[in-house]
Amino acid sequence: MSLVVSKFGGTSMADANCMLRSSDVSLQRKSNIIVVSATSGTTNDLILLGDLAEKGQLTEVEALLKKITERHTQIAKELSADEQTTTHLQELFSELDSIARGIFLLRDCSAKAKDVLMSLGERMSSALFVVALRQVFKKQNHKTKVGLLDARTVIKTDEQFGKAKPLFDKIIQLCKENLQDCIKGETVYVTQGFIGQTLNGSTTTLGRGGSDYSAALFAEGISANTLEIWTDVAGVATTDPRICPDAVVIDEISFKEMSELATFGAKVLHPATLLPAIRSHIPVLVASSFEPQKAGTWVRKEVKNSPLIRAMALRKNQTLVTVSTPEMLHTHGFLFQIFKIFNDHKISIDAITTSEISVSVTLDNADSLNKSLLEELGKVADVQVEKNLSLVSLIGNNINHTPGLAMKIFEVITDVNVRMICYGASRHNFCFLVDEAKGAEVIQKLHRQFIT
Ligand code: ADP
Ligand code: ASP
Ligand code: MG
Repeated sequence: MSLVVSKFGGTSMADANCMLRSSDVSLQRKSNIIVVSATSGTTNDLILLGDLAEKGQLTEVEALLKKITERHTQIAKELSADEQTTTHLQELFSELDSIARGIFLLRDCSAKAKDVLMSLGERMSSALFVVALRQVFKKQNHKTKVGLLDARTVIKTDEQFGKAKPLFDKIIQLCKENLQDCIKGETVYVTQGFIGQTLNGSTTTLGRGGSDYSAALFAEGISANTLEIWTDVAGVATTDPRICPDAVVIDEISFKEMSELATFGAKVLHPATLLPAIRSHIPVLVASSFEPQKAGTWVRKEVKNSPLIRAMALRKNQTLVTVSTPEMLHTHGFLFQIFKIFNDHKISIDAITTSEISVSVTLDNADSLNKSLLEELGKVADVQVEKNLSLVSLIGNNINHTPGLAMKIFEVITDVNVRMICYGASRHNFCFLVDEAKGAEVIQKLHRQFIT
């Protein structure tokens, strides 16, 4: 039997119609596990709720609580939810209310509390999706049982609240132990993306956009044959269609290229999603739940074509930190010292260039640049920080072995100030930093030069 894990993102869960449409897709695709996101906009609302409660703005907190509960009550009503689901939703609403009031009273929204708060988005949406799926199964006279699975019983993580790391071996073990009925095709499970649990029982989340990652973990856990990511675009495009409306959907892309594309800004797939898929050789389909008849994009180990430039991505909100000291000249250990400081602060660096006396690194957002990190760096070298930059990446094959490529890139953007270039380390990626304000324009020009 072929096992399929399907994930539906926020827009595919937006209202009762979306849930029914996504349920239809699940039935057609014979999904064994369905991993769902919170309904569109709900995670953002829950984060805002935590902020408002922490600031003591009770009137706004109450208004937002009402908005969130009404949104879900409306979907339950439209789906004619059964009594058990209605009671379950009421319990979730009351948990939401208690947590918001707890944060308000304490004026403290810790990362741990925020994770419980955010988990409610997926816990509410999954309860509703079960109703939609049962309805579609019944209509099509499909007899397989539908069950709601609490993802936290399986997705065990470490204690980094807000960006928890999955405990892979434990997850695989728990999937094998607890999901036999699903593996045998007797039950279809609907479960939550994004959320997990520490071994001590505290709720965690895997970072924004993490439902894709959850789906990949489930796929690995049950040794699925296919992982499907159903979203609001018809597949992975040559660039973000919001930046370039003439971006075209790619029919096939390799794991290596897709990892670079996701890491360097293509929001269509959470960057960590491919780790379990690559490890366990699971091909990934990215497609639109709104147009499921379209072929979508297959992400696989081996692909037929390997073009020089396949796609491009823009990663906004980049900060460039340049650390320089003449003492670096002809000495050893300087890079080690610098990277150790970043490591001690758990800061992830994306792109790096070095010269004899300086090293420049890019970081995802300026928030991670705390005072103590800058002080420690300042003890060993001069530190310069530049903000409001965007990282432009071109993704493809054999990039570092192609003469004349850099010239072709830069000749179309001669009017743009390029702050840093990373070229040579990867066969699959060429990236450089530009001013945030120029990012979209640069992508549009490069897309015209290399793709359309
Ligand atoms: P979901 O809620 O389904 O997880 P996301 O909003 O996280 O959806 O991801 C889908 C969005 O990713 C698309 O609407 C699109 O704007 C954006 N995106 C960025 N880069 C790409 C790309 N190369 N191809 C397709 N979509 C992209
Ligand atoms: N609901 C979470 C978010 O909005 C996770 C996800 O949708 O992937 O970030
Ligand atoms: Mg997403």
